[in-house]
This record gives sequence, structure tokens and C-alpha cells, in this order.
Amino acid sequence: MSATELAQAVEKAAQAILSARHVVALVGAGLSAESGVPTFRGPDGLWTKHGEPDLRDYERFQQDPKQWWELRISRTSQFQEMADALNNAIPNEGHFALTDLEQMGRLHHIITQNIDNLHQMAGSQAITEIHGNRTKLRCIECSARWPLDEFAMDELPPHCPHCGGIVKGDTVMFGEPIPRDALDECIAQSRMCDCMLLIGTSAVVYPAAGFPVDVRMSGGGLIEVNPNETPLTEISDIVLRAPAGQALPKVVERIRELAGA
Ligand code: NAD
Ligand code: ZN
Repeated sequence: MSATELAQAVEKAAQAILSARHVVALVGAGLSAESGVPTFRGPDGLWTKHGEPDLRDYERFQQDPKQWWELRISRTSQFQEMADALNNAIPNEGHFALTDLEQMGRLHHIITQNIDNLHQMAGSQAITEIHGNRTKLRCIECSARWPLDEFAMDELPPHCPHCGGIVKGDTVMFGEPIPRDALDECIAQSRMCDCMLLIGTSAVVYPAAGFPVDVRMSGGGLIEVNPNETPLTEISDIVLRAPAGQALPKVVERIRELAGA
């Protein structure tokens, strides 16, 4: 996409956001790429380079939670490259642009597939994390959540002080259902949404991949921000074919100009 085409798309995106009632951002791993966190899919994705991971994670956890916890505590991560990147990551201009948009009253909710806690670090408030948050723990029965460092780990597996259920990392494993509270919030947000930003997601993982389709079918607009084509490109009204850290601040700047005018 040429600089002129990008400028035109930025203009259209700013106007669409300004004229919408309820704007929701659906975010994927691409937003954090410029924070040094590798994506899974896409040309430089970890799975593209190393192959897909074992899909029986949750099954193993359910069979023997104690053993799962012992392994988690004792071993270094099988994706050490990912763990190092996540530990060192800080929000980039794309995360801050979303925080700005929220503070300007132009973004009402973020549905993120990321587990990296970077939206919170950037200061965003209205966030639903469909795949959980790596800095938290969660009870598999009642979905209560705690920051990792505030939970007394005096037995393995740890148990929920409220309901006695088993506690695991909040991050959703392969084969694990999306926590009901998060899924319900996403469905409610998608129903209210008349303009959805699709940022750095290859949109092949359900249920997230279905939200934009629901928005589209109820007459809402879709704005894609991604340097690469995705399955959602063809149903998007506006496409910003650029890294989120570059494109999103431009949209925010243009909205400021238009709203101030
Ligand atoms: P994905 O890895 O499947 O796809 C990433 C997408 O981001 C691709 O379409 C790619 O073109 C795009 N992209 C790359 N660089 C970009 C940039 N600078 N700006 C905008 N877009 C860019 O990601 P996904 O769709 O989110 O699915 C993978 C799953 O893995 C997620 O659901 C998530 O739970 C997990 N994951 C999380 C993190 C994280 O927390 N940061 C990182 C990797 C994977
Ligand atoms: Zn509980």
C-alpha cells in the first residue's frame, strides 16, 4: 500500500470511528509484534518456524493437575524464546493509541486474544481477554482470578479459597473452553458494536474469528489494521495495510484534528 493509499485509508477510518456509536477493537498477536513478542502465525510466526504445538494441553492438566503444576514450576518453558520476549515486553505506540482512543471516548471496548498484559500496562481500561492473562491465576470452577504474586501457593494443585475448585494459570490452554464470563462479554460487545477494528489478528481462531462476521451481518463496519492479508480482508470496509504501531497513531491524530475542528 502506497503512502497516499494509507493516508486515504487513515482518513476513512477516522471518519468511520467518529460516526460510530460503539467501537470495539478485536486484537491479536500482531499488535504486540512491535513490542518484540513473536506471533504464532504469519511469515515470522513461531509455529511457522517450529511447527504447531501439542493440542492436548488441557486434557493433560485435567488428568493430573498436580503433575502439571509440578512441571510448570520446575521446568523452563518449552517456548523459551516466547517466555523471554513476554517477560521483557513493554507496550508500543499501537497499544498507546488504543488507550488514547478510549480516553477520547471513541473506543468502547477491547477484545484481545493476547495474554501479555500490555493493554493494561498501556493504561487501557475496558478489556476482555478471551485467552486469559499470563500474569493471573484462575479457578476452573468459579472463574475467580488473582494476580500471580498475590496467591499463596501452599499446595499443588492450588485450590480456590471461594469454592474449592482447582486453580490454574489464567491463560487458556489448547482444548480448554473459553471462560464463560469472557465469552459472554465478547458476545454482548459484538452485538452493541457498529464499528470493529481488526488489529493484528489472522482471524482463524474461533470464537474470535466469528465476532467480525456477526458485526458485519448486523450492518456494522470493519476496519482491518494488518501489514498482511487475512481471511477478513475481503469483508472489511477499510484496510490499513501497515504495522499497527504506525497506522493506529495516525488514525488517532486524524480523529483529534477532525473532532477539534
Ligand atoms: P496470529 O499469530 O495468528 O496472527 C498474527 C497476525 O498479526 C497476522 O495476521 C500478521 O499478519 C499480523 N501482524 C504481524 N505484525 C503486525 C503488526 N506490526 N501490526 C499489525 N498486525 C501484524 O495471531 P492471533 O490471530 O492473535 O492468534 C494467535 C493466538 O496466539 C492468539 O489467540 C493469542 O492467544 C496467542 N498469542 C498471544 C501473543 C501475545 O499475547 N502477545 C503472542 C502470540 C500468540
Ligand atoms: Zn472458585
